[in-house]
Amino acid sequence: MSETATHLYPTFRRMVPRKQKEALLEQTGLVIWLFGLSGAGKTTIAAGLEAELYRREILTQLLDGDNVRSGLNRDLGFSELDRQENIRRVAETAKLHANAGIATIVSCITPTRNLRSQARTIIGADDYLEVFVACDLATCEKRDVKNLYAQAKSGCLTQFTGKDSRFEPPAPDCPPDLTLSTADTSPDDSIRQLLETALPRIRPSA
Ligand code: ADP
Repeated sequence: MSETATHLYPTFRRMVPRKQKEALLEQTGLVIWLFGLSGAGKTTIAAGLEAELYRREILTQLLDGDNVRSGLNRDLGFSELDRQENIRRVAETAKLHANAGIATIVSCITPTRNLRSQARTIIGADDYLEVFVACDLATCEKRDVKNLYAQAKSGCLTQFTGKDSRFEPPAPDCPPDLTLSTADTSPDDSIRQLLETALPRIRPSA
């Protein structure tokens, strides 16, 4: 604990309880954490899921890696330490939203097992749905939605995940809650699969 933290007086007990907020919204707070290589389809699936939940009158928050990095985390780069701090802040932010009963979708590369485990620990296993957006590097490179693979190849971009910075797929003994393989599936099918898994956790009566 940092020195300043010992002088804090949290007021959690005076806040409206999470259960009451969930009752108000008629939904359960949950963090749906999408991870995978750049170009794998995280943003596409996250945005599609959010639209489907909105259609069902479910309140959502979408924390997309690039958006967060251009605001809350704009002071962070891509070193190991900064990646760790990036995930810590996103996980803490996601947790705040889930505690308000909001269906919170995170779309972040989250390249290592360690980082994913950190996110799970911060959020709490009961509120954490881990989704691997799986796609082989060659397909991601071919899609190159943001022209990042080309920049990494030409040397304009360093510390790029999958090239000069490692991406660890899930360990066999610690599988994600869901794997969406996007190389040979349409975005609509991937979104439908995720909706089928997430919706019962957000609105058990649905
Ligand atoms: P990321 O957020 O992981 O960097 P994006 O969602 O920005 O990736 O880009 C993924 C690209 O792959 C989009 O152009 C999307 O249309 C395409 N794509 C093809 N199949 C799928 C699928 N099953 N799920 C998601 N995206 C897909």
